Amino acid sequence: MPSRKGYGMQQLKPRTADEAVGRWPGILQALGVDPRYLGKKHGPCPICGGRDRYRFDDKEGRGTWFCSHCGSGDGFKLLQSLHGWNFSQAAKEVDRVARIVPAGAVTQERTEENKLQALRETWGDSRPVTRGDPVWKYLTDRVGIDRVPPDIRFHPALKHSDGGRHPAMLARMCYPDGTGASLHRTYLTKDGRKASVSQVKKFMAAPKPLNSAAVRLGAGEIFLGIAEGIETALAAALRFSVPVWAATNAVLLEAWTPPIGVERVLIAGDNDASFTGQAAAFSLARRLVHDGYAVEIQIPETEGKDWADAGL
Ligand SMILES: [Zn+2]
Repeated sequence: MPSRKGYGMQQLKPRTADEAVGRWPGILQALGVDPRYLGKKHGPCPICGGRDRYRFDDKEGRGTWFCSHCGSGDGFKLLQSLHGWNFSQAAKEVDRVARIVPAGAVTQERTEENKLQALRETWGDSRPVTRGDPVWKYLTDRVGIDRVPPDIRFHPALKHSDGGRHPAMLARMCYPDGTGASLHRTYLTKDGRKASVSQVKKFMAAPKPLNSAAVRLGAGEIFLGIAEGIETALAAALRFSVPVWAATNAVLLEAWTPPIGVERVLIAGDNDASFTGQAAAFSLARRLVHDGYAVEIQIPETEGKDWADAGL
């Protein structure tokens, strides 16, 4: 039985865990876990990839899983690892959806082709960012840039799973060979603030695991930077005068792979009170050094800050 130590089960209102029992497949799907990771057969791990190291076994209806690389856990742990959430964020999200998802198995998986089609249509409905649009306002205000890289675009009315449509910042995620991986969405208001929706930042369903992918904010050069968030990456690029790409969260930062031609990497990490950002930055650094890259890490001095908060 997987240990519950270390991720704060004691903080949870007993009601949330009880309500979730027997509903984990639907809860996890509602919170962005692809249904193919919710079957009982061995297959790739949603966190670390591979071929057949992972299994969702849902013991006692608690959303349990096992991976020979990552270990094991319950539904809360899976959400924390996948989304970079802390325990209370995961509990809050589970609480929100637990009552509305049906008990039992998940709905039929969308095919790779359906997902690609949705990605193409969404990107096709977006347009380059121009001065004064919500994305321009958001990035100007948050990061102080007024030239926006082409892999960030503006969608005027993107559907949200809460219902309704909102302006959105779309960012294209690419694998190291430059092929598209998914789209990252940030829902905004017309005047360029974060929209008031249950989840402001979301991925679109991707045909393949996102490991090694990033948003390309500038050309890949011999010296390239990598950060978690898009806003952080743009701020770090200004501060350190080097192109900085965005892995979008701590789990994907740790799994990032530089494209061919890069020799030196700047990791612009987040200073999290939980040490999630620092741990991901150092873990990536260790792997890259092992693979022969020259690596430096920059982390803001103040706890709770990323480079977009740190100012110039
Ligand atoms: Zn794994």
